Formats: sequence, structure tokens, C-alpha cells
Amino acid sequence: MIEIENVHKSFGELKVLKGIDLTVSKGEVLTVIGGSGSGKSTLLTCINGLEPIDSGRIVVDGTDVHARGTDLNKLRRKIGIVFQQWNAFPHLTVLENVMLAPRKVLGLSKAEAEETAVKQLTHVGLAEKLSVYPSRMSGGQQQRMAIARALAMSPEYMLFDEVTSALDPMLVGEVLDTLRMLASEGMTMICVTHEMKFAREVSDRVAFFHQGIMAEIAAPEQLFDAPQHPETKKFLAATH
Ligand code: ATP
Ligand code: MG
Repeated sequence: MIEIENVHKSFGELKVLKGIDLTVSKGEVLTVIGGSGSGKSTLLTCINGLEPIDSGRIVVDGTDVHARGTDLNKLRRKIGIVFQQWNAFPHLTVLENVMLAPRKVLGLSKAEAEETAVKQLTHVGLAEKLSVYPSRMSGGQQQRMAIARALAMSPEYMLFDEVTSALDPMLVGEVLDTLRMLASEGMTMICVTHEMKFAREVSDRVAFFHQGIMAEIAAPEQLFDAPQHPETKKFLAATH
């Protein structure tokens, strides 16, 4: 479970998160929508401890992420994160790229890391691409490789930050299909996305962020069909 309690976060003078309260249960799929600069990415980087917070608490399975003494490396093994773009090591094959963290971070043997990497690459539909170099793959394939790489660490939570935003529209579908598959397998996920159709289909709940505040959170039918907050209405009207 991820428990976010009254989290405030600023960058210098700029208040980016202004008291976020949110609990994500095991197996839940939460999508986060909202305008540019509303704090969506910042929230994700605070959850896995990449960014400190000013006040409040984020607790993952009982561990306070920002408490002194928290083993962030251990915590991050539990929380996979995939961004808009991931720069794979160009001189390593797809398989070698995905094997790297399990070997270095988890200390798996070469054979074990290879088994895990093959399994996850197969899972995301890249079984044919093991010995290819990343530059030879499409954007959609590269994003699926990034997802396989995160999954190879056997995370319990996955955070996705606009993983389809940099893609050619033709390639968006295959990556969303991969996310749908993970959701249907019961992965606990927070997905920041601009894909409203996807958010409606896959989410247990959708959170709308506006200027550092979670203005509204509801089941997708509720949020999309009967939004309550005026800013949610405005945002949805503009994105349709
Ligand atoms: P987008 O939809 O454009 O990705 P977002 O909702 O993800 O937006 P954030 O990236 O969380 O927004 O940024 C929130 C605000 O914080 C923005 O005004 C941004 O410029 C600022 N910001 C984000 N990261 C930093 C940083 N490392 N240093 C200073 N300001 C930052
Ligand atoms: Mg962002």
C-alpha cells in the first residue's frame, strides 16, 4: 500500500505539491491526469524517493520513504518507474540492457539474470529482439523494453510517467496494451497519462491534478462522465 499524507513539495519558491492525500491499495490501478506543471511527475519522483518532500509523509508498505535511515535502494527495488523516454545503453543488446540491473542491483548470477530478462522481454512481446541493439527498435519497442527492464527487478509497484507521450501515434497502442496486460495481472500501478480512453478503461480510480492540488479523485465513469470540480470539467472539455 502507498500512503500519501498531506505532502507538500516546492522547488525554490514554486509550490508544486500543496497537500496531497492519497492512498493506493495493493492491486489498484490509479491514473493521474492534469495539465502541464500540475505536479504529476513530481508526485511520482517523491513516491520512490528520487525527490525529497517539504512536509507530510509517504509510506510504502510501512516504510516512510523520506525518513532518515530508510534504505532507498531497497525501496526502489520494490517500485519500478518508467518515464517518457529511457536511454538504453546503445552498445548493449536489448537482452544485456535488461539483464544489467538484476545483475548489479539484485546480485543475480548471469544465468539467473538472463532467465529473468528473457522472461520479461517475452512477456512484453520482444522475444524476437533479444540480440538486437536498442537503436534498431521502434519507439514502441523501446518503451516496452523499458517496461521489461523495470519488471525484471520484480517490483511490487509500477509508476508510469507518460510512457506513450513521445511516441508516434501508430506506436501508442502496443505500449498501452502492455500496460493493460500488467493491470489485468494485478500489478499495482500509478499511471500518469494523457490517454483518456486508456484511463477510462484500465483505472480503478482516476485522480485529476490542478496546480499542485488533487482537485478530484473518483472512479473513471464518475470522473469522466460526471466531473464535480470546475477545473476537471474545463480540463476534460479541452482534451476531448
Ligand atoms: P507535465 O504534464 O508537463 O509533465 P507535470 O504535472 O508532470 O507536468 P511536474 O513535472 O511535476 O508537472 O512539474 C511541476 C512544476 O514543478 C513545474 O512548474 C515544473 O517546472 C517544476 N519543476 C519540476 N521539476 C523541477 C526541478 N527539478 N526543479 C525546479 N522546478 C521543477
Ligand atoms: Mg510530467
